[in-house]
Amino acid sequence: MKYAEIAEVLGIAVGTVKSRMFAAVNALRAILEGIPMNCDSARTEIIAYLKNELEPGKRKRLEDHLAKCPDCRKELEQARRLLTWTEAASDEAVVAKVEEIFQNAMLANASDIHFESQRDDTLARASSRGRRDARGRRLDSAQRVGVLARLRCWLTLNVADTSLPQDGRIKWTFRNKE
Ligand SMILES: [Zn+2]
Repeated sequence: MKYAEIAEVLGIAVGTVKSRMFAAVNALRAILEGIPMNCDSARTEIIAYLKNELEPGKRKRLEDHLAKCPDCRKELEQARRLLTWTEAASDEAVVAKVEEIFQNAMLANASDIHFESQRDDTLARASSRGRRDARGRRLDSAQRVGVLARLRCWLTLNVADTSLPQDGRIKWTFRNKE
């Protein structure tokens, strides 16, 4: 129904119809925003929230819900991690670095790639029959996060994720199936 038709039926001015509609919509919004968010609707907003895409009203309602709901806070942390990993994994420099590491390993006929955490950076070394490439490829801490994220996405099914702390070092070994 158009505003003009409503105005005619009610015998009031079009401007009055518009302003009453506006007031009604605002009242409805206030009521809806006053209703506490439930977990289902909170969870559908989490990604938008993390990407800063929520309008202030929804943002506030979600934050109120999160403050009271440990389950949704857990969900939020998982989503945050996932988002960080996905962003890091699709970074161009990271993609190039992973290719470099794998090409290096394939050229060396390697069966494994070892990621050795050192003081400030990580050394990716290919190894064949237990002998490790002496030089390896160096990753700084930012690259490391991205490269590991990429590897995780890429090798999800092939990864033998053994995190063995050794003398303060952590060794990641990924079995290279190729
Ligand atoms: Zn919840």
